[in-house]
Amino acid sequence: MSRIFEITERVAAYAPKANIDRINRAYVFAAHAHAGQMRVSGEPYISHPLAVADILASLGMDESTVITGLLHDTVEDTSVSLDDIEHHFGADIARLVDGMTKIGQIHFNSKEQKQAENFRKMILATAKDLRVLIVKLADRLHNMRTLGFMREEKRRLIGEETLQIYAPLAHRLGIHWVRQEMEDLAFSHLETEAYQSLMIEMQDRLEGLNQTRERLEDIIQQALLRQGVHAKVQGRMKHMYSIHEKMKRKHIDFTEIFDLVAFRIIVEDLSTCYQALGMVHSLYRPVPGRFKDYIALPKPNGYQSLHTAVIGPENFRIEVQIRTKDMHVYAEDGVAAHWAYKEGDDSAHKDDFKWLKQLTEMLQETDNPDEFLENVRLDLFVQEVYVFSRDGDIFPLPRGARPLDFAYAVHTEIGHHCIGVRINGEVSDFSTRLRNGDQIEIMTSPDQSPSRQWLQYVKTPRAKQSIRQWFKRQERESGIRLGGKVLHDSVGMEAVGKSVLKQLECADMDELKLRLGHGEIAIHKLLEAVEQDSTLPMKLMGIKHALMHASECCHPIPGDPVLGHFTSGEGMILHHRKCPELAELKSGDLLEVEWQVQSGQLFKTGIEVRSRNKRGMLAHVTRCIADAHSSIEDIKLKQRGGAMTEILFLVEVEGRVHLAQVLRAIKAIDGVVSVRRRNQVGLSGKPETRALAETLRDFFSRKHASAPPQKTKKSKEVKT
Ligand code: MN
Repeated sequence: MSRIFEITERVAAYAPKANIDRINRAYVFAAHAHAGQMRVSGEPYISHPLAVADILASLGMDESTVITGLLHDTVEDTSVSLDDIEHHFGADIARLVDGMTKIGQIHFNSKEQKQAENFRKMILATAKDLRVLIVKLADRLHNMRTLGFMREEKRRLIGEETLQIYAPLAHRLGIHWVRQEMEDLAFSHLETEAYQSLMIEMQDRLEGLNQTRERLEDIIQQALLRQGVHAKVQGRMKHMYSIHEKMKRKHIDFTEIFDLVAFRIIVEDLSTCYQALGMVHSLYRPVPGRFKDYIALPKPNGYQSLHTAVIGPENFRIEVQIRTKDMHVYAEDGVAAHWAYKEGDDSAHKDDFKWLKQLTEMLQETDNPDEFLENVRLDLFVQEVYVFSRDGDIFPLPRGARPLDFAYAVHTEIGHHCIGVRINGEVSDFSTRLRNGDQIEIMTSPDQSPSRQWLQYVKTPRAKQSIRQWFKRQERESGIRLGGKVLHDSVGMEAVGKSVLKQLECADMDELKLRLGHGEIAIHKLLEAVEQDSTLPMKLMGIKHALMHASECCHPIPGDPVLGHFTSGEGMILHHRKCPELAELKSGDLLEVEWQVQSGQLFKTGIEVRSRNKRGMLAHVTRCIADAHSSIEDIKLKQRGGAMTEILFLVEVEGRVHLAQVLRAIKAIDGVVSVRRRNQVGLSGKPETRALAETLRDFFSRKHASAPPQKTKKSKEVKT
């Protein structure tokens, strides 16, 4: 059991100006309050606050924090009130103790609650003063050390909570040794067998490893000394839980782990760090790609060190960290190092802990945890970005997340209807990577819906899945809707009988509609099936021919690859597959069709003829078209450079074979340079084009034609 005088001596050693008397008074106060209470272990209760204060002192925490450690359970577990604490120890201590009491009331362990949500609550509860969190970690560490006295069930609960929440928090606050001890303790209680067998394996190797470690420590130490560098070289075993996790993660067993021992070289000053690095690399071959300079580029939580890995003797792979004493204290104690007492030279650390200084200032300036959360760039969190909604709710997202990830994290519907985003008040686009502390406002519109491009801009599985599901549902719905429209427009029915379904091998109406909509069942097949259904009147014959119309924009003719587009009231409009207008239409509304026509039916299409300016040329061509049993619907002339004329015709043909005959016939005319099919020519019967064509025709016939121009068949309603 820790003794109060040991604690005060310790504090006095690192903080000579600390008010030791006040710490002693807190001890007496707590001992009095907890008098008669026992821990499950059978020890007097005061042993627990003493142990917590001891841990805080070993972190070098300030006087107030150590006092809070002593008093932390008084309000929750004894008759002492917060007012009593304030009366005896002041508002600062009362606030810290109150924070501890509040965390005690958060119940973390319900399985449904996500880790992130737990973090959020924890941060909210400790936002005013991070020291509360440090006291809580010390409290939990001691409870873990004495967990063996608890019932199995309780051990499991506390162990899991520690692994899930407190160890990661310690890690994120950079308090390394606390995290490791927590993890190893939790491991020993939660997976007792795995823990013990690993322990045995390690003990077997321990002697060998220790020898290797000592030998290497010596070699490195000597090599450094030869260069006049005084350094502390520490080899240490990796902690059990991290070995266990690595074995699980990589599916390997203990003998396959080569980096059981890691070395730390602690030197006097910054430049010596690099000198020591050079020495290590000259001693052993470095592993490529493993060198990291966290001195020049500190980790977001302020951690600094040089990291490298080398191939040591016996092909042992060893990890080496090199840093100064100050960096080392920070690396071990993390955030706690900030509150550690530093005699005289506060200025020396100012730049190292700039982010921490900002954080602390923020902590001091704001009483409102929401405000704190909105403003602080909480770079403690290394693997996740923490962003805030407009209302100040915190959302943890993986690094690299973008605005749509956030939108989907808020709500699936917010994601689906997201039309834009403001980050920190500025309009940004979906490709922007979110950064810690960003405040994000999603703009939505009921008309908005996901696009496939969005998939490029999301990182979280949740957002990806939501978008994909939306499309799946959408495709099915629009397929059924379109199929229903096809059914209605082609046979004038909302549903068909069982015999039709059976003939078309559909289980139900939805399947029939879906397959119609996807073009898997051709319309003529549907019509055939309906016609054969004896229960229906036979007046449906021929309906299919009236159903399809060639589009006026691209003038497809039978034999062309086409896609159908259903328009209510107009039936099916057929477009050439290469028609640019298709891009404007919703792909879900387009239908694969088999274009069946009655013989004798004619279809319009455009052709382009280039000819030399020659007397009677136009008359010649038009006559040729008539001779090929085609007729001219429209005509347009264009004078090309030199002695060339371009004539565009809109002609009527039965199909591709007929068109080919027409083209061949024109090609054979003397003076025709080229002839080809050409659509999208603006020959779709606009009045002004016709007027122009008339004028030109007259002009041509007067000036050049030897014979009167072929009278073109007057345009009549073409049954298509
Ligand atoms: Mn406690």
